[in-house]
Amino acid sequence: MITAQPQSFFQQKNIAPRLILVFVLGFTVNREHLCSKQPFVTPTASLHSVPSVIHSSLAKMSFDGNLSFDNLEHAARDFGNRYHIMPYAVLYPKSVFDISSIIKCIFHMGLTSELTVAARGRGHSLQGQAQAYQGVIIIMESLQVPKMSFHNGKLPYVDVSAGELWINILQESLKQGLAPRSWTDYLHLTVGGTLSNAGVSGQAFRHGPQINNVYELKVVTGRGEVVTCSEDQNADLFHAVLGGLGQFGIISQARIALEAAPRKVKWIRALYSDFSAFTKDQEHLISSEKTFDYIEGFVIINRTGLLNYWRSSFKPKDPVQANQFSSEGKILFCMEVAKYFNPEGPDNIDQEIDTLLSKLNYIKSTLFWSEVPYTDFLDRVHTSEIKLREKGLWEVPHPWLNLLIPRSRIHEFAQEVFGNIVKDTSNGPVLIYPVNKSRWKTRTSMITPDEDVLYLVAFLASAMPSSRGKDDLEYILSQNNRILEFCEKNRLGIKQYLPHHNTKAEWKAHFGSHWEVFTKRKLTYDPLAILAPGQKIFPRANASTRQ
Ligand code: FAD
Repeated sequence: MITAQPQSFFQQKNIAPRLILVFVLGFTVNREHLCSKQPFVTPTASLHSVPSVIHSSLAKMSFDGNLSFDNLEHAARDFGNRYHIMPYAVLYPKSVFDISSIIKCIFHMGLTSELTVAARGRGHSLQGQAQAYQGVIIIMESLQVPKMSFHNGKLPYVDVSAGELWINILQESLKQGLAPRSWTDYLHLTVGGTLSNAGVSGQAFRHGPQINNVYELKVVTGRGEVVTCSEDQNADLFHAVLGGLGQFGIISQARIALEAAPRKVKWIRALYSDFSAFTKDQEHLISSEKTFDYIEGFVIINRTGLLNYWRSSFKPKDPVQANQFSSEGKILFCMEVAKYFNPEGPDNIDQEIDTLLSKLNYIKSTLFWSEVPYTDFLDRVHTSEIKLREKGLWEVPHPWLNLLIPRSRIHEFAQEVFGNIVKDTSNGPVLIYPVNKSRWKTRTSMITPDEDVLYLVAFLASAMPSSRGKDDLEYILSQNNRILEFCEKNRLGIKQYLPHHNTKAEWKAHFGSHWEVFTKRKLTYDPLAILAPGQKIFPRANASTRQ
């Protein structure tokens, strides 16, 4: 392992001379500079606008994996299915050396090249964040080192490659009786991809997002240096990269905190028609010591036969009363909670749940529950994915909008948005649940509103390509815009999660008082703005931007 100690930006008195040095280096680099001495490989790619001298330099490099100049289309797609940006090449790394070598090579080309590099996890981004126009895409799943290695003890953890999928980590950890503490709702995402955002789900109220549950990272910076970082070592880079939208380095390895894994889950849903009662109960649950292990919720607007639909996976507590409940034409709020347990443990789980539920004000006839293995509970969205794929409904455009809303403004938001702007939820779920930010680490790059309790509200719509109705892409996008405009006009102080902004002014507003730190970190770790161009935060430094 090569471990470099980057000089902290804050140790430097003046960044201007360093920037000039970078630019000078960029211009003095020999355009015939070869990144390796391997024989020339004829590209099979069709058109590319990368100058031939740069192309031949890259094509001559040797890797443990391989660099490909053709069959690039898959790297120009993502889950959002709206942005298709063709790269110039795709790297399938087999070692950290591969990632470091290509970035170093591009960094040393300086301003003579406009090449950018984007790590691609599973490509589950929504607006091209893992894409790079005429750049190099690094397929992180190809990096299978290190092999997962588990460490038991008081603070158990697992070391994984950042290209690993969370579902694989779950399956391997369970063999050790362990599991990560904080999840996303869907597990077919990579470690590097979710750590670059945050990783928020129903456990975040207690454990914080996934970026709170990492002990150490190995990162390849925008200079190609390989750096190990943690709270105690290169802490500035560690915090920068967590929630850093891929801007400061490519995470190649992560040390993930684990806990003893439960075997089973009691999974419960209940409906509210009164938004105040719903939020009061959710907030009570996230702030209680004795509470559920997972707390989420969702909004249901104008849905026919909802409880009948639930019956395929849940049982009503009171079947007779449940039969008489009608969801049609109503705005309803569903509390979704779960309690983990081990069948061989103390036999009072039902009693504990009854006690917790007895303090809540849901509509009694709508209480539904289910008992499932822990893996099935965590991997629940994959079950829907399989069904949607069968119907050809997975690879459609996903104009998702994820917002973090301060608790003090959630009622105003709900009153305007649910029913007035969003008139039904048939084109995809709308999640809503509070998280207790006071338990989150504050020094990461993740941006949240400035309050202790926040609501994650996620509009997870699927658009139907041939539709002209409420599931038409344009209709959903304009609905999203109306929501954003309402928040802006009324200064609700929201932040986007998985943020997407088009202009520098919008990004500055997103980062607020953190903008200065974010840009300073960029200059320290990726001064040429080579990394993650698809986030559209910093333009690539090139000859025309030389001062
Ligand atoms: P990609 O989309 O490939 O990459 C995301 C960004 O990170 C890109 O900018 C990329 O360049 C960068 N990146 C990728 N790997 C690395 C790396 N190793 N080092 C540095 N940068 C890197 N998110 C939640 O928080 N909670 C949820 O419950 C949740 N549920 C989801 C459900 C579904 C069905 C889907 C599709 C997404 C969900 N997400 C959720 C969003 C998810 O966190 C993002 O899509 C995220 O981008 C992870 O996807 P990925 O691994 O495919 O990363």
